[in-house]
Amino acid sequence: MKVDQIVMDLDGCVYLGNHPINNSPQAIEKLRSRGIKIRFLTNNATKTREEYKNKLIGMGISVESNDILTSGGATAIYLKNRFGETNIYPIGGKALIEELSREGHRIVDWSKADFVVVCLDFDINYNKLLNATRAIMNGARLVATNKDPTVPSENGFMPGAGAIVSAIEYATSTKAFLIGKPSKVILEIASSYWNFKDDVVMVVGDRLDTDILAGNEMNWITTLVLSGATKIDDLKNETEQKMKPKVIVRDLLDLANRWDEILKTLGEQSCAT
Ligand SMILES: [Mg+2]
Repeated sequence: MKVDQIVMDLDGCVYLGNHPINNSPQAIEKLRSRGIKIRFLTNNATKTREEYKNKLIGMGISVESNDILTSGGATAIYLKNRFGETNIYPIGGKALIEELSREGHRIVDWSKADFVVVCLDFDINYNKLLNATRAIMNGARLVATNKDPTVPSENGFMPGAGAIVSAIEYATSTKAFLIGKPSKVILEIASSYWNFKDDVVMVVGDRLDTDILAGNEMNWITTLVLSGATKIDDLKNETEQKMKPKVIVRDLLDLANRWDEILKTLGEQSCAT
């Protein structure tokens, strides 16, 4: 058994807010020294991949922006592949607009929009909800970069993109098309963006209902870290097979330190099935 690629979540996995979790930079180096390619995938679209790159480098993790994909970037790629360059009314900050523009999409007034694309917007207000609602009633389609109910921070949980998406869904009686985890759309985009082909891929994340669920859907090896949103008791209460991780570790350092043992167990499991 060999793992070629790790698709790693950021929040609750590599860091919490602005603080790296328990020597995560060293853990990442240790995994890389085994020839594993590490890619970073986040549902959070409030930063561009360049901004995430700078954040990671600031923590001592060397990375190229091409090895980072956000749900904003994945949404831009998805819409481009499916519909070409589109007209978008965005709800989100500068980072979302930058990721959408990078793929050639045009940022337009609500009345000209074919799509309303939503991510977490720290400047959300009634006028934006009104414009989004008008656009959708005018025939535009609603796309959610992610529907995370909350975002973890050093000061506890904050309302996430899902809270804003829900407001628009409720007002318009529509259901948003979801790009981010737990939708496997983002992992399919990631797979072609990083050209995985026949590679053995492991997804590492801290949430059962997003990271692990989406990874299992792709038939990738799923690894849960207990350094973020999920505690050991949540695991005991989880009965759904599709939310069950293949590997459970305390944090990234634990994963790196126990790598040989983990691969051996995975190898035995795959022989047994
Ligand atoms: Mg996370």
